[in-house]
Amino acid sequence: MLIVPEREIAALMTEADAYEAVEAVFAAMARGEAVNFPVIREAIGHADALYGFKSGFDRAGEVLGVKAGGYWPGNAAKGLTNHQSTVFLFDPDSGRPAAMVGGNLLTALRTAAAAAVSIRHLARPEAKVLGMIGAGHQSAFQMRAAARVGNFERVVGWNLHPEMLDRLAATAAEIGLPFEPVSLDALGAEADVIVTITSSFAPILMAAQVRPGTHVACMGTDTKGKQEVEAALLARARVFCDERAQSVSLGEAQHAVAEGLLAPEAITEIGAVIAGLAPGRQSAEEITLFDGTGVALQDLAVAARVLEAARASGKALEVDIG
Ligand code: NAD
Repeated sequence: MLIVPEREIAALMTEADAYEAVEAVFAAMARGEAVNFPVIREAIGHADALYGFKSGFDRAGEVLGVKAGGYWPGNAAKGLTNHQSTVFLFDPDSGRPAAMVGGNLLTALRTAAAAAVSIRHLARPEAKVLGMIGAGHQSAFQMRAAARVGNFERVVGWNLHPEMLDRLAATAAEIGLPFEPVSLDALGAEADVIVTITSSFAPILMAAQVRPGTHVACMGTDTKGKQEVEAALLARARVFCDERAQSVSLGEAQHAVAEGLLAPEAITEIGAVIAGLAPGRQSAEEITLFDGTGVALQDLAVAARVLEAARASGKALEVDIG
């Protein structure tokens, strides 16, 4: 069995690789070649932690595995990352463990890649202004990935905790784009693409604040109860997601569906757009909204790429498990 430690991941995975892996596996899902299994996520009654598994199988790519981990809110005080995860890959022919791959950086890269995939396939090609809502750990990854696929000329941002906006300013400077902190009204009025990446449990962005033609990638809502945008926005938008079952149960669409504002069948899995099986944006005026909940197959796809790179560069540790 091979081990690829967390410390090696940055050198083994690029944003471009993450984008390719995620786009390809979304399309494989749409073609019925790859499947996610039901998610387990539980409060363990220790260290205030949430712990769970996301697993799946990509039959075409022969990638079988599970991401295990969760959220330990007390970690930051110990100098550790709050979100902890590890990906385990198995040999699909024998079930034997094939690899253990650090999953923390990969989670950020694959989540940002999903938003970028949605931007490339759904945003208007002439989109110039990127709006960022959220300034936490994931936000920097999101901004970099969005900028890689869009021709953005500037970034506007809002965060509940304004002292965190420095992260957005620093990331924009790193990628060479001007950044301006703005009100939510101004953000909605100016942005062509909006990425939401917060841990909010109440709507931040209202339907009336979003102008026609905008693409919104809702990336923070990955748990029952979380919410970043007003449910009415989903009723107004053409809605896409990574996986419909997750979108309606723990994604941004959970609220609009529960309120009867959106039929689950009206949500298109983005893989179908990538694979040419469903249309994406249908007019320059419509609002497109991507509900990115984060599926196992994204984790497995990026971990499999890392494993390949680690093998090629001799960065994987080999352990004899008998
Ligand atoms: P973080 O803790 O570093 O940052 C949290 C962000 O949310 C900050 O911008 C903070 O100001 C904001 N925030 C906190 N409480 C809020 C509230 N009540 N209302 C509005 N904003 C609030 O977290 P992170 O690592 O950047 O992750 C952000 C979110 O993305 C989390 O909800 C996380 O679970 C989610 N996430 C989703 C996926 C996915 O695949 N969809 C993957 C990873 C993380």
